[in-house]
Amino acid sequence: MPKRDYYEVLGVPKTASADEIKGAYRRLARQYHPDVAKENPKTAEEKFKEVSEAYEILADTEKRQRYDQLGFSGVASDFGPSGFTWQNFTHVGDLEDLLGSSPLFQQFFGGFGSPFGGGRRGGRSRGRDVELTLRLPLSAAVHGAHPTIDVPHTGPCPDCRGTGARDGTAYETCPECHGEGQVRRVQARGFSQLLTIGECPRCHGSGRKILSPCATCDGSGQRSTVEKIELTVPPGVDDGAVLRVPGHGTGGTRGGPSGDLFVQLEFEPLDHVRREGKDAYSETTVPLATALLGGEVTIPTVEGHANLKIPPGTQPETPFRLRGEGFPAYPGSHRGDFIVIVHVEIPRSLSGHEKELLREAFGPAARSSNSRRESLFRRRPS
Ligand SMILES: [Zn+2]
Ligand SMILES: [Zn+2]
Repeated sequence: MPKRDYYEVLGVPKTASADEIKGAYRRLARQYHPDVAKENPKTAEEKFKEVSEAYEILADTEKRQRYDQLGFSGVASDFGPSGFTWQNFTHVGDLEDLLGSSPLFQQFFGGFGSPFGGGRRGGRSRGRDVELTLRLPLSAAVHGAHPTIDVPHTGPCPDCRGTGARDGTAYETCPECHGEGQVRRVQARGFSQLLTIGECPRCHGSGRKILSPCATCDGSGQRSTVEKIELTVPPGVDDGAVLRVPGHGTGGTRGGPSGDLFVQLEFEPLDHVRREGKDAYSETTVPLATALLGGEVTIPTVEGHANLKIPPGTQPETPFRLRGEGFPAYPGSHRGDFIVIVHVEIPRSLSGHEKELLREAFGPAARSSNSRRESLFRRRPS
């Protein structure tokens, strides 16, 4: 891919202000970040690299000046011989609000190292990502939480420092690959030659010949432990949200970086409470007398229980709205509402005495004193 002009990459004019450059970068990085991009991850990664590289130069006054004067050659040294490596590159501050809520992404990106680390070296490979599901009480969706979880972690054996050799010293360089971990084979293929590079069959890529294996890890160089990790669950997350904890997946081989840990959140459902975005819904049934005369009922809420005041004359299926008792939409936002539908329990059978009292109060003879009902009839046009 031929290199494109940095201003062209960000889609800003040569006279663009620092804010315009930052704004353009955020928009594009959000679009192409490999973790969130909707398009082909390969193309997205390429574009993200291109955008990040352009921003790295144009956001720095000094580098931008050099680029303006000398073009790519003025800034080439900034990227080292292996070129730009986005894996190790992040403007933490920018990515925080770029990709979402800050406490979450502080954790996501907190583990990243210096802006420009070394690229991939031969034989090193990144450890696998580990995925877990964590169940939390629904109240954690309101207030956030700091649960501590046990994560099975495979990392370098401490007794042999990952070499697999006793004391970390009882090995010599693999005679087959001379420590490279890889072997090259050249095969003739018609008029051309085919070069293949593969893992060294003798040392399986470690580059070492172990003379005496480490007793702790039986020479594997890896050891499984259970790691306690405290997570930060920000308020306002929904079911299915995924927290990423960098570097807490499986350990890499030959000193390669560890994979990441992904924790998918699942909230324990509450009986009678339904979550819909930032609002919560519930239902309750009150006795007829409470609906007529008013009173108080206890209702389950997201965080436990609350008392709901029932005013006299409450109609069946009346929704009551408890403002701010729902869920926050994102950390720091106002909470939604808790909506309770009140049903009224109509007795299925009555005693003679109850019937008598009801007839007296609400029967045809009592109509004249039931002014509201009477007035309704009167208002109707005849
Ligand atoms: Zn060991
Ligand atoms: Zn070898």
